[in-house]
Amino acid sequence: MPDKRDETACRVCGVDDGEILWGAHGFPLYVICDCCGTESGIGDDNLTQVRELRGYWVGRGAPWAESHRRPKNWDLLRQIQNIPEEWR
Ligand SMILES: [Zn+2]
Repeated sequence: MPDKRDETACRVCGVDDGEILWGAHGFPLYVICDCCGTESGIGDDNLTQVRELRGYWVGRGAPWAESHRRPKNWDLLRQIQNIPEEWR
């Protein structure tokens, strides 16, 4: 697909710090998300699992795995708008 690009937004929580999580050719880079703690390539390659992980994370109050990285004015609802369309 010509419009395939590197993915930098977490499929589970939508946080996007510019680091590549999934390469354009569909290979994960095994990066652990600072926000929801999901590792790209581990459980985020399947829509059902992505939704489960997201539901579990939100159900626990959407905690940041790296709490010191949480922005002061963090807005969960704004962040989840970054979730790629096909992983919502
Ligand atoms: Zn995440």
